[in-house]
Amino acid sequence: MSTLKCVETTTIPVETPVEAPSRPVTDDGDHDRFAHYARRDDVARAYVTGEAIVALCGKKWVPTRDPEAYPICVTCKERRAAGWSI
Ligand SMILES: [Zn+2]
Repeated sequence: MSTLKCVETTTIPVETPVEAPSRPVTDDGDHDRFAHYARRDDVARAYVTGEAIVALCGKKWVPTRDPEAYPICVTCKERRAAGWSI
């Protein structure tokens, strides 16, 4: 009998996520630094009324007229990729 030992030397480096400097969490419809997906009708209405609408990720926010200026919200992006729709 050979004493065969399975030596696992694979070590996975621990990911150290780089946290962005803490920003205040506001969940009252404030703008944040992301563009979210939402229903086109809702977005159009929000542009007119300035009302907050609910995004695909569940966040209530006021869409900006210049969504290109912000990165797309990761949760919205994932849910949209997964086939979610509002
Ligand atoms: Zn979102």
